[in-house]
Amino acid sequence: MQTITLRMKLLKPTEAKKAEYRRMTNETTALANRLIGLPKKERSISSKSIGGDLPSAVKNQLVRDVNGNKTAKRFRRVWPAFNNQNFRVEKETAKDGKETWKASFPTGEKRVGVPVVATDYHKPYLELLQTGKAKQGAAKLVERRGEWYTHLSLTIGEPEKEVSSVPAKMPKIVGIDLGLIVLLAAWCGGLTLFVHGGPLAYVRRHFAALRWSYQKNGAKRALKRLGDREHRWVTDMNHKIARAVVDFAKKNGANLIRLEDLTGIRWTRRQSRKQRQDHGRSLHHWPFFQLRQFIEYKAALAGIEVQSVNRDKTSQTCSRCGETRSVRPASRWFECPRCKRKKHVDANAAENVASAISGLAA
Ligand SMILES: [Zn+2]
Repeated sequence: MQTITLRMKLLKPTEAKKAEYRRMTNETTALANRLIGLPKKERSISSKSIGGDLPSAVKNQLVRDVNGNKTAKRFRRVWPAFNNQNFRVEKETAKDGKETWKASFPTGEKRVGVPVVATDYHKPYLELLQTGKAKQGAAKLVERRGEWYTHLSLTIGEPEKEVSSVPAKMPKIVGIDLGLIVLLAAWCGGLTLFVHGGPLAYVRRHFAALRWSYQKNGAKRALKRLGDREHRWVTDMNHKIARAVVDFAKKNGANLIRLEDLTGIRWTRRQSRKQRQDHGRSLHHWPFFQLRQFIEYKAALAGIEVQSVNRDKTSQTCSRCGETRSVRPASRWFECPRCKRKKHVDANAAENVASAISGLAA
């Protein structure tokens, strides 16, 4: 285990943003000095009542930091700090393949991503964070000689064995069904989020057509560049989809996400048949494992647990009454032979995943 701090400069923040960061710093400093005079037990309560004009996430972190400081009597300056659930760094890939890294954290303004200067030293660590191979710690907003920086701590190394948290009495669950026509359907408490595969398949076909013409002309370097570009595009899409899923879960107050287990031969076989029916409009070879990793990583940052569910019969069972049909529905609608309910097949499947009708995968 190794903990390091990444110091990344904010890329040309506007004057308004700088003013807001300075204002926040003044507020955190003043609040820290008010809190240090109080007994520890009262600090958390007091931060709400005597607190300055700060996002609650910043106040909570401030109380933790002040409590953790054993020696200080007075603070000259306290930088706004964020715990790992409130500070994010994410990569955005533009159409031309150019990558930007953006940090987002709560301020008095709307939460928007601010570009950071990620050097070749920073990037490998950021990638580890993205793939969940590094654990994110707290982050700070710091000013040095008129420039603003984020100081982000992260831990690398063998993850300690996870202590499974005791689930809340009534877990609120998101169920996710993955497919090729609807790439992803997420269900939670009657609401469904759909990510349609069509537009993604369209871009992929465009890549395929280009690849074919490059191959025909023996343009090897162009082919390699094209491959890199497609890879970046797909990865970026998976990040966006994962983000949408976790946002959906957060918006619905869910604390558990259930996904179908992706291992097993049946997945591939059924998918290829589905694809044939689909006249090539689908997304064969979409990196579902990567998508799953991204969902797991982003969910973990949001404090949401992820479970695997067996995928037996999730598409063939009525999510209302439990009746099982012997064949998969031929249309995009699941019509229950018993209770007669009609529901979108993927929404029906996602609801079945949420209630884990075929049990949790090992
Ligand atoms: Zn039914």
